[in-house]
This record gives sequence, structure tokens and C-alpha cells, in this order.
Amino acid sequence: MESVVQISRPFKLASREFRKVDTVFTLKGVTIGGNQCVITGGPCSVESREQIFETARAVQASGAKILRGGAYKPRTSPYAFQGLGKEGLELLKEVGDALNIVTVSEVMDPADVSLVTEYVDILQIGARNMQNYPLLIAAGRSGHPTLLKRGPSATIDEFLLAAEYLLHHGTERVILCERGVHPIDRTYTRNTLDLNSVPVLKYLTHLPVFVDPAHGTGVTRYVSAMARAGLAAGADGIMVEVHPNPKEALSDGAQSQTPAQFDEMMQELRKVAQAIGRDL
Ligand code: PEP
Ligand code: MN
Repeated sequence: MESVVQISRPFKLASREFRKVDTVFTLKGVTIGGNQCVITGGPCSVESREQIFETARAVQASGAKILRGGAYKPRTSPYAFQGLGKEGLELLKEVGDALNIVTVSEVMDPADVSLVTEYVDILQIGARNMQNYPLLIAAGRSGHPTLLKRGPSATIDEFLLAAEYLLHHGTERVILCERGVHPIDRTYTRNTLDLNSVPVLKYLTHLPVFVDPAHGTGVTRYVSAMARAGLAAGADGIMVEVHPNPKEALSDGAQSQTPAQFDEMMQELRKVAQAIGRDL
């Protein structure tokens, strides 16, 4: 007789009731999920070959296993730098192949999903698009690994139902990423990094959970502390922004680390990982 599993949550495929074991997968030899912590570093936006290569080499030397870099940027203002588009993807592919580093980049338009999957190892669905259902369906149908960021006003159930779209439409390799919610006070930080979500998500779902303290704080000075806190809270990975010269960055310079700051953070994260029995 087939067994019947009662699912009490609004999401099913994402729930631990449905799948008891953690989702763990490997890309280019890098294991995501399980006991391993994975650090992602790279610029908010890919700006030039020099910039992405220099950043990639630096973060990889410090221990990052995933390189981030936006090619299609969701910007509040239409006058702000919108990303290099396909050229940015080509640079990511080049650097990813040359350094054998896993790459992640945002896709905003369902029509671009198949293009982006050809150039990067992991699709990113940004916070603003967490509930863009045509995008979730297209990304889900691609079957490509996808990092889904929590919307700034999304509840945990809304976040997991967005992940459910990806799973329902055919993508099993989904990473959840907490990146901060709307703050009650924007004086000192851009968002409020909701670290409650980390243990809550780990309890509710089998999917790996990352924390992005760069967008979560919006201020370089606070990134490292919140990265440590994220790992301590049980995150499976951290994503931060790194730029060779943050003052000159075309986006998110105020929350970007220099390669030296990233390296210092990595040393601290290794201590946290060791203290909690995780591999890094
Ligand atoms: C980003 O990762 O650069 C980004 C735009 O993040 P978010 O979607 O979380 O704002
Ligand atoms: Mn950014």
C-alpha cells in the first residue's frame, strides 16, 4: 500500500513533512547544503572584464566557492546603471570557466531565463521578483539551480510558496536567501536582516538557506558581524558583495566589501563554523 503523508502547511514540496532529508546538491564540485557552509562573494554588478576577474580571483583565494555578479539589475531608478546584460553574462561564463568557480546571476525577465541558464550555474531571483509568478514558472521549468531571495515584505509562508512554484514546475535545486525585510528605521541600515527566518526556515523546509547581510544591512561596516550571526543561526551559506574599489562601484558600493575586508570576514566565519561544527 502506498503511504500517505499528511501535509499541514500551505506549501508541500518545500516542506520537511514531505521530504525529511535536507536537499543537498553539488555544482562544479561544490556541495550546497548538508554540513557544508558555502560563501558567495562578488560585485553587485558585473562592470568590466578587469573588475570581475580581479574580484573573482580575490574572493576565490579567500575561500569563496560561488561568484556572484549581476548582469540584469533591478534598479529603483530607470536612470541608474542597469547592468551589462548579455555582455555581463559572457564575462561571468568566461571567469567561471577560467577559475572553475560556481557562478550566480539574477534573471528578471521570463524571456531571458533560457539565455541566463546557458551562462551561469545558478539563477538568482531577486527580492523584488519573489512573487513574479511568470518568472518563477519559467525558472522552475528550466530545472536550473535557483537562488530565491526573500521579498522585503514577504512572510515566511509567501517565501516558501514562491519556492513551491519553482519546485512544482520542475526545479529541485532551490536555495532560499534571507536578505532583509522592510525596516522600521532606515537611519542606520537599509533593511532589517531577519535572522529569525533562518531557524524557522530550517525547521519548516529541507532547502538550503543562505543569508545576504550586504542587502540586509546596506552598510559595509555591519556586513561581517551579520554574516557571522547568519552562520551562527544555522545558515548554509552567506552571500556578500565585493568590489575592488567600492567607492567607484556602479551599484551598491555602500554595502560592498573590499577584497581585504572580505578576507578578514572569511577568517572570522571559519572560526564560527568551527565553533558550531560546520565545514567551511
Ligand atoms: C542583488 O543581489 O544585487 C540584489 C538586487 O538583491 P535583492 O534582490 O535582495 O535586493
Ligand atoms: Mn546589490
